[in-house]
Order: sequence, then C-alpha cells, then structure tokens
Amino acid sequence: MARGFAGAAADQAACPCGSGATLDSCCGPFHQGLLKAQSAEQLMRSRYSAYALGEIEYLIATHPEPETPIRQRRRELRASNRQIRWIQLEILAVDCGGPEDCQGTVQFVAHCIAAGHRRCLEETSLFERRDGQLSGDWLYIRAL
Ligand SMILES: [Zn+2]
Repeated sequence: MARGFAGAAADQAACPCGSGATLDSCCGPFHQGLLKAQSAEQLMRSRYSAYALGEIEYLIATHPEPETPIRQRRRELRASNRQIRWIQLEILAVDCGGPEDCQGTVQFVAHCIAAGHRRCLEETSLFERRDGQLSGDWLYIRAL
C-alpha cells in the first residue's frame, strides 16, 4: 500500500484510495487543486487519500465546518494524522452524487492502524454541492 512521501516518486505510486490508478492520475490532481471532484464518490475517495497522505488543507477545503476555527481544525487533523495510518478503503454503496445531482451518499469502510491496532470505520457519508447548485463543487457534509 502506498504511503505519502513527498516528491515525484510518490506521484507514480498507487493511489491510496485503492482505485488501481497512480496517485497522479487519480486523487493527486484534486489535492493539488488542478481538478475538482466530479462526483460524490470521487470526493470521498480523494478525501480518504488526503487522510492517508496528510493533505490537511484539502480535508479542510472539502468539508465546511464554519463553527470551528481553521487553526483548531488544522491542529486536530494533524494530531489525528500522526496517530492513524490509513491502509485500505472499500466503497460499499453509492447513491446519486453524479453529474446531474446536487446530493449523494457513499457508504464505505476505511481500514486503519491506530495505536498498533487494526481498526475499521464504517460510515455512510452525505455529500452536497456548494450552494446546492449543479455548478458547485462537491463537499463532504456529515456522516448519516
Ligand atoms: Zn484515488
């Protein structure tokens, strides 16, 4: 399983989201701001990869949390990122979240190692486009 190391070599590594593509032809361009996720599933995959690679700014940008100051979010994400190693993503189900949708859900299991123990997080995530417009970027809203 690919891990996030800085530099060109990492871009040729398999994308952590498990798509089978390389990072630079999968979630990498989303993290770098070169492309926008076109579906709820793409956003979900790219957010998982961002967790795996420590792309904290991407996690913040794709999940509005106006109640929490950005500095606090950065601190919390960095702290959890140091303690958890994400090792595998399984997408179980996708409902809507496509080009003609403003909302969608993705059910997944994310496997990780935390404090030396294998754990898994199962979640059905709700995604919506910004401002509810078809032209809006996909955003992670919350777990259902
Ligand atoms: Zn990917």
